[in-house]
Amino acid sequence: MKAHDGMYIGGQWRPAAGRERTAVLDPADERLLAEVPAGDARDVDTAVRAARTALPAWAATPPAGRAARIGALRDVLVARRAEFADTVTAELGSPIGFSERVHVGSPIAVAASFAELAASYPFEERIGNSTVLLEPVGVVGAITPWNYPLHQVVAKVAPALAAGCTLVLKPAEDTPLTAQLFAEAVHEAGIPAGVFNLVTGTGPVAGQALAAHEGVDLVSFTGSTAVGRKIGATAGAAVKRVALELGGKSANVILPGADLAKAVTAGVGHVMNNSGQSCNALTRMLVHRDQYEEAVSLVAAAVAGYPTGDPRDPGTRLGPLVNAAQRDRVRAYIVRGIEEGARLVAGGPDAPHARGYFVAPTVFADVTPGMTIAQEEIFGPVLSILAYEDQDEALRIANGTVYGLGGAVWAADEETAVAFARRMETGQVDINGGRFNVLAPFGGHKRSGIGRELGPHGLAEYLQTKSLQF
Ligand code: NAP
Ligand code: MG
Repeated sequence: MKAHDGMYIGGQWRPAAGRERTAVLDPADERLLAEVPAGDARDVDTAVRAARTALPAWAATPPAGRAARIGALRDVLVARRAEFADTVTAELGSPIGFSERVHVGSPIAVAASFAELAASYPFEERIGNSTVLLEPVGVVGAITPWNYPLHQVVAKVAPALAAGCTLVLKPAEDTPLTAQLFAEAVHEAGIPAGVFNLVTGTGPVAGQALAAHEGVDLVSFTGSTAVGRKIGATAGAAVKRVALELGGKSANVILPGADLAKAVTAGVGHVMNNSGQSCNALTRMLVHRDQYEEAVSLVAAAVAGYPTGDPRDPGTRLGPLVNAAQRDRVRAYIVRGIEEGARLVAGGPDAPHARGYFVAPTVFADVTPGMTIAQEEIFGPVLSILAYEDQDEALRIANGTVYGLGGAVWAADEETAVAFARRMETGQVDINGGRFNVLAPFGGHKRSGIGRELGPHGLAEYLQTKSLQF
């Protein structure tokens, strides 16, 4: 795998200030893929200065000009699609088909949507005797996780560019190669020097320095709730804007009268995709008592279609987890589920292969709402099936965690499903298998975060108002 021995700052690859390096491993076989420099506060400082220097000219570029550059970026992503997919598969372990379709397909759609929005967004509104200008917030510090290494970068960079902001990105240390490739794409797209800057490194060093830097006006973070709290505190103390896209424990609610087989197939796919490492994964399936055993059998049959395998094999649907720590964490949750009395229907804690960070696709039945596996984000291929008596109990279970990011409702008709969805404490709900929409606001209620990404609501996060009175 190709790796740059430097940071992309001010439009060029520059050597890092220090000598620390991060090893990038292939999670499918634990081999070393590459090494990248681990930046520190000095690299962050250089990058933030470059972003500040580039800000006035980029902010003053007319929206049509910014739209053209985002469109060019989208075209480079399309042209280099296969290279991006191979890189995501190599460092994340995502099955190649899923990498092409989702890991690269979604960012292409997101970049296209912000190219269009940049061109069409009003950036100005009239309220009574005022004209309200919507201006860029300034320099953005973006901190991203490894689970969607390209999508999460594009979901921050594209709206920031559309708004007229400049950025410094600190990607996850497990997936820096995708971020380096993205920096190449930015360069190829003719985005002016200093508008986008990349500092690879660890969270506690480079990430912390970026969140705390005085020259950063907005910190946009996606990752764990634990780190999100810290970043929120740092940003709050400095009176900086902050957006936090955190974890989830989303419910897939199957109401009586729904197409049970369809709901189960879609629900299992949603959890097994990306090895369960999606913040909005539907990890809790809620089924009415009368249909419970039927649902459990259907789930067991569906999960048999997800044997773990080599992510480079086009037939594979379930690859490894990203690293050894995540694998151990997920296995510990599986052991905990068994200890707390849930019924293991498929999978378990044993390693399915001699090498690689694999976890067998695992299903628990007889899960009760108070169990650890029903409350905490596992971030692995683990599904819990819970039973309910009536809609009120289903709602109590669905809303009964600290999280509120995704969700799904299946019912005999849309009206019933929508009535239930209205009572859910969560940021997104798919109705009877509704598809992902790159223009719909994405973000959490409760401890799942603050702020929204994607579409016009996502763009608004990178804008601040100035009111002129006449
Ligand atoms: P994480 O530590 O929250 O990582 C997210 C990003 O924050 C990474 O770039 C990370 O850098 C950085 N970071 C870590 N500590 C930081 C600090 N003190 N200051 C500034 N930045 C910091 O997440 P993780 O450790 O990779 O995963 C742990 C758990 O988080 C998962 O099991 C899952 O439950 C949850 N998670 C949720 C999402 C989501 O989309 N909501 C995504 C990933 C993980 P490093 O890469 O160097 O750590
Ligand atoms: Mg971490």
